[in-house]
Amino acid sequence: STDALDGKLDDARAELRRTFGFDDFRGRQAAVVERVLMGRSTLAVMPTGAGKSLTYQLPATMLAGTCVVVSPLIALMHDQLRSARANGIRAATLTSADADWRETQDAFRAGELDLLYVAPERASQPHFRELLSAAPLSLFAVDEAHCVSEWGHDFRPDYRMLRPMMDAFPDVPRLALTATADRQTRADVMAQLGIPEDGLVLAGFDRPNIRYAITPRDNPVRQIAGIMQDRPGPGIVYAPTRRKVEDIAEKLASATGRPVLPYHAGLPAEERADNQARFVASEDMVIVATIAFGMGIDKPDVRFVAHVGVPKSIEAYYQETGRAGRDGDPAGAVMLWGASDFATARARLEEVPEDRRMAERQRLDALAGLVETAQCRRAILLRHFGEDPPESCGNCDNCLDAPGVTDATELARKLLSAVYRTGQSFGMGHLEKVLTGTADDRVRQRGHDTLSVFGIVGGEEAGLLKPVARALQAHGHLVANDHGGLALGGGAREILKGEREVAIVIPPKRERRGRRGGGA
Ligand code: ADP
Ligand code: ZN
Repeated sequence: STDALDGKLDDARAELRRTFGFDDFRGRQAAVVERVLMGRSTLAVMPTGAGKSLTYQLPATMLAGTCVVVSPLIALMHDQLRSARANGIRAATLTSADADWRETQDAFRAGELDLLYVAPERASQPHFRELLSAAPLSLFAVDEAHCVSEWGHDFRPDYRMLRPMMDAFPDVPRLALTATADRQTRADVMAQLGIPEDGLVLAGFDRPNIRYAITPRDNPVRQIAGIMQDRPGPGIVYAPTRRKVEDIAEKLASATGRPVLPYHAGLPAEERADNQARFVASEDMVIVATIAFGMGIDKPDVRFVAHVGVPKSIEAYYQETGRAGRDGDPAGAVMLWGASDFATARARLEEVPEDRRMAERQRLDALAGLVETAQCRRAILLRHFGEDPPESCGNCDNCLDAPGVTDATELARKLLSAVYRTGQSFGMGHLEKVLTGTADDRVRQRGHDTLSVFGIVGGEEAGLLKPVARALQAHGHLVANDHGGLALGGGAREILKGEREVAIVIPPKRERRGRRGGGA
């Protein structure tokens, strides 16, 4: 009944104050704790720092018996152990690094532990099963639960042994925890760990102080110099290759006069560590880096994260932009993208093993949907993670300055026919000449001035050719070969046959902004 539930949550709040010293639950912690106290198996998906540990530690102190926590890293377990004990919680670990196995097992069997941390490989050991049978259990908590899924980025085969272990104790509820919210991984984790579909609690992904903006790349150095002017303070610029990192860092430094350092795996370890340390200590430095940078660095005052080129997926974008504004003050996330980014990423799909290709393609499609949209960026991000956000956030480029949306189906058909009629091997420069009726030597030599598509795109339309090509490439309707030649991709035939429409997003005056600041 609701009364019983209210009572339980009141008790939980009292315990929260007493044991942890916190005034109230944060985000959806209460929803998770409530389910656990009712004995319902749950998957809690919350970003890093949201306070997932509390959602099992608190019930562990309230329920009779021990909460067995599965955690993938010994270092992580010992951190947790220290902080749990500091709060007066009776906790222990059973790892290869522990000397007090006997005492721990005795205490466990005697019901004197609130928490017992173990590594997943324990689950498959018969001895450990026997130990579980001899102890009073309150809960199974599975930390970093995405490790059970091959869809996740960190598959650990040992996690597959957890299900049979937990199934041997059907009365003990399960709480799986992860920060990975990608839909497929989430569904797989629930299936693999035996958590019912209604057991999902997911929230807290919004970072309201981050202003998202995604804009075509024309001159990245000038565009980033503009961002630096708008957002003084430390910033991170992600670039796709070591060479681009070096190049952009050098040009940014001379264009802005600000301290700018490179960071990538090709630098000597010492220089890398030194650059990182200087960045962390600095109040105005910009670091240009490959995605190797940022894991585990703790710098709350990063004022912007810029991407030169598209990230790997929406998840990666969220992770990387999430390094901005951890102090809660206003921060910016700006992605500068080009058609070639998607061309490269889609070409790389061919090298992905067949069984993963479909999923990777879907990830790219989702990313293209975020990039090529006139809708609220935040709403798309949060919906991707399974949240139900308002239609408009008021703090992203599209909400602040609505872009135009133009039906470009006709123009797309003209471009795709030109691609087809020229033999699917020419780049955009050549195609533009053919379509706009510019007969240079190359066009004439190939006889492309005699094609039916020669000169069919006039005046105003010509200005939309690049945005159309960009949109078609983002969605994979147009694909590039090794030499930059364009060929028809998935869905292109439907567009040609008039079965599919193409709308393009025309960024508003934003472009000016990029051109203004700091140019060299
Ligand atoms: P996660 O595991 O989700 O990354 P943690 O469990 O490490 O996050 O918690 C992050 C921080 O938030 C910790 O310092 C924790 O003490 C703090 N915290 C958790 N819950 C609350 C709360 N209800 N009120 C205030 N601080 C909290
Ligand atoms: Zn918005």
